[in-house]
Amino acid sequence: MGQLLIKGGRIIDPGQGMDRIGDVLVEDGVVRGVAEQIPRPDHAEVIDASGKVVCPGFIDLHCHLREPGFEDKETIATGTRAAAKGGFTTICAMPNTNPAMDSWAVIEYVLRKARDEGAVRVLPIGCVTKGGNGQELAEMGELADAGAVGFSDDGNPVADSNIMRQALSYSTAQGLAVINHCEDHALFKGGAMNEGWVSNRLGIKGIPNSSEDIMVSRDIALTELTGGRFHAAHLSTGTSLGLVRQAKERGLNVTCEVTPHHLTLSDEAILGLSGADDTNHQAEKRFAPLTAAAYETRAKVNPPLRATADVEALVEGLKDGTIDAIATDHAPHNRVDKLCTFQEAAFGISVFETALGSLMGLVHAGRVELPLLIEKLTIGPARFLGRPDLGTLKEGAPADITIFDPDAEWIVDAEGFVSKGKNTPLDGTTLKGRVVATILGGEVVYQTQ
Ligand SMILES: [Zn+2]
Repeated sequence: MGQLLIKGGRIIDPGQGMDRIGDVLVEDGVVRGVAEQIPRPDHAEVIDASGKVVCPGFIDLHCHLREPGFEDKETIATGTRAAAKGGFTTICAMPNTNPAMDSWAVIEYVLRKARDEGAVRVLPIGCVTKGGNGQELAEMGELADAGAVGFSDDGNPVADSNIMRQALSYSTAQGLAVINHCEDHALFKGGAMNEGWVSNRLGIKGIPNSSEDIMVSRDIALTELTGGRFHAAHLSTGTSLGLVRQAKERGLNVTCEVTPHHLTLSDEAILGLSGADDTNHQAEKRFAPLTAAAYETRAKVNPPLRATADVEALVEGLKDGTIDAIATDHAPHNRVDKLCTFQEAAFGISVFETALGSLMGLVHAGRVELPLLIEKLTIGPARFLGRPDLGTLKEGAPADITIFDPDAEWIVDAEGFVSKGKNTPLDGTTLKGRVVATILGGEVVYQTQ
């Protein structure tokens, strides 16, 4: 492997507290050094990064690659290429495949496929229960030995409190987290979107915030009981965020993640409005006639997009450190899954290719500082994974690097996605901030023409 010199970019590496203009030298797949000016070695390839941001490759704790079993929605090949296009170099694959990732064999299959066909590093998450169906614990030790980096029945919560208790107890042996999709099913049942004025306006059965709040509260109580390690997947409500904040203050081993869409869109996206960015004239919006854009199935996701106040609480949670990581919950579906009534449509958004652009909206609006945003996409998730070698540009670390133009404006064209999942409510909208190159272990795995 050769040398690569990335010249003149704004280097932001929150793990080292670094934010400076300079050069990055990569040699034999690792970061060799960062300095104000590095002379070009004789045979080094050069990338001109002036006007761009150079940062550690993004790490995603939560995505659905759909393989094995749902290759019509996504494959490891297409999902990892979409990740690379979005600036991600390490992604954690959720185990709700078919068969589910509840055995050594399936974990091994995913790892081998990722090695052979993947564009980025794939870390598998193993099931909490056999088949992910919540009845009986999976062989968690075996899954950890096979390479699982955490346990989850994502797509479903671990509904049975006693099974969750056991999972948290066992997980302490591996030091890995139980990642719960926090939702009380009795409150969720039949719901298709957030319960609030928008669901009333549209006549859709809602899912109340308390569905999530109750489960997060239960899991924190069980974490205290067991001394286990609990990670709340894709938090969506201000109340559950507050519960996590309190649990952290009490010294419990509790972490959480939030998605780009829950940070940037409210349930008003289902009205065909642009959500949090829209006018604040609540009364006008409530009584405005519905347009053809209403019942937007591409904004149907689980947990649902919440009210504007929750979106704002989550942004505060980023700033005060309650939220450990931004995770995409990339959930690709095929066309027919969304070309139906709102009630029938599948939950999920294809996120990889819009994550940075949508999050940069928070930076351009002056609501979040850029280094903080990058922290939650790099060193934050690396800490969760216990991987000091990832999410940093320190000397000797694998050269996983993302270069992006923070000011490039572009129009989302879902048909042009690398992902098989074209399901995004952002289709046709303008985003500002775009990845120009993604480097994995010194190799360019994505670059704009
Ligand atoms: Zn989930």
